[in-house]
Amino acid sequence: MTPLLMIPGPIEVSEAVARAVSGPPPGHVSPQVIEAFGCALENMRRVWLARPDAQPFVVPGSGTLAMEMAVTNLLDPGQRALVVNTGYFSDRMGEMLARRGVEVTHLRAAPGGAPSVSDVEIAIGSAADERKPFHAMFATHVDTSTGVRVDARALIQAARVHEVLTVFDGVCATAGERFEMASWGAGVYLTASQKAIGLPPGLALMVVSQRALEARRRLRTKPPMSVDMLEWLPIMQAYEARRPSYFSTPATNLIMGLDITLKEILAMSRDEDLAMATRVRLHELAAEAFRASWEAMGLRMVPAAGLEANTLSAVRYPEGVDATLIGKVREQGVIIAGGLHPAIKDQYFRVGHMGHVLTHPDDLVRTVNAVEAGLIACGLSIERGVARRAFIDAFG
Ligand SMILES: *Cc1c(COP(=O)(O)O)cnc(C)c1O
Repeated sequence: MTPLLMIPGPIEVSEAVARAVSGPPPGHVSPQVIEAFGCALENMRRVWLARPDAQPFVVPGSGTLAMEMAVTNLLDPGQRALVVNTGYFSDRMGEMLARRGVEVTHLRAAPGGAPSVSDVEIAIGSAADERKPFHAMFATHVDTSTGVRVDARALIQAARVHEVLTVFDGVCATAGERFEMASWGAGVYLTASQKAIGLPPGLALMVVSQRALEARRRLRTKPPMSVDMLEWLPIMQAYEARRPSYFSTPATNLIMGLDITLKEILAMSRDEDLAMATRVRLHELAAEAFRASWEAMGLRMVPAAGLEANTLSAVRYPEGVDATLIGKVREQGVIIAGGLHPAIKDQYFRVGHMGHVLTHPDDLVRTVNAVEAGLIACGLSIERGVARRAFIDAFG
């Protein structure tokens, strides 16, 4: 049997998506790419729950490239940014900002925690009082290294009191966690194709508010050309108007798949609010069922109570078990991931539960069974079947 890929990205994709991205590469001016690209841009606004005037960007690249694009398009060297730091990917954002010459302030928490909203309010407020206001606030919606989700809505609210532009790294969250770009008033919400969006790796995706685009227009130091929003803007506008245009070759196969996956995400209802609420609820239910299963096996989570993401579980190894568990789970036909946060790397494993696989409960049960069998193979005494029972009781 082909192993089941249950890491926090890349993830399993639907058969329709797999079909759409395979096959001979279509040209970037072919009618099918033009139509798929145009539809995908329109549907991104709906999945992001963004305003009609918000601008989607689809650029060949990774999540890291999407982060770089946000950093270099919004801030000039010498400007100030606040990083709400929840782990590995927030550190990366901070490093990118520093390389851009931005003055970075980190608000950090211990691994598994998140800075409190009131600490963020205080940091933003006192910077404003000292007449050294932050130009932008950066946060990781779900930090994939710890499985922690921040309260994006509250953070945006705190930032907006002082009109601070907000950027959320949604690479492990977008289309799996609630995010209302328009009603919350976010500046940029970015992701990559291989996570909850449900495609193979290769696309950097983001939706940008008009205010954030204004920040790009006002820059004195232009961003690198390949990630310049003003280079890509006319291309996005052309494809949305169903005209081809060229700046740098789009990843045409992936764009065919993007059109399909966004339509699958929105298929639940013609009303995007309802479609997205249903989609997020499914992620929530699955996450709760996975947690019930970990608990039934006596395992503890990395994130503090209440901060657990819906898109992945970061779970501590029990006493006497280490990373050899991952190989044992692999022998059961399921691929899970090791730790990523440098401070606790050897102390936990990660299981992704996002996207298409959630419509296959058998695969989810197969995953908890495999972890249970792996733990037993590692010498832990667990009653066989507890993980599965707990999962099914919770998931229904
Ligand atoms: C995966 C991930 C990234 C990096 O994406 P790449 O495509 O690997 O560059 C950035 N941020 C978060 C939160 C992620 O989960």
